[in-house]
Amino acid sequence: MIEALPPCPACSSAYTYQVDALLNCPECGHEWAPMPDGAAEDDTIVRDSVGNVLSDGDTVTVIKDLKVKGSSAVIKVGTKVRGIRLVDGDHDIDCKVPGVGPMGLKSQFVKKVAE
Ligand SMILES: [Zn+2]
Repeated sequence: MIEALPPCPACSSAYTYQVDALLNCPECGHEWAPMPDGAAEDDTIVRDSVGNVLSDGDTVTVIKDLKVKGSSAVIKVGTKVRGIRLVDGDHDIDCKVPGVGPMGLKSQFVKKVAE
């Protein structure tokens, strides 16, 4: 199977061809290195309530009181949670909340803190 090459970033020509690790355009002569696989379509970026990009191991604070499902516990606003882990799903942060235990949080209810 022949893989479709991306169009020329300089003139949008579809007639690009590959020479070793570089892509070449026969129409304008542009030569460039293709993006590594998947680099352009990373849809797994998780952002906090103010748009900071979150990553595994970050520390966040909770920005509003959150009721814990199935219990009377409440995670108070300002609660600091260390060592978060990003996961797929509705609750996209896996973490251990001090005094409550392991649980899932939604990224829109936290804010990243610099330590
Ligand atoms: Zn071109």
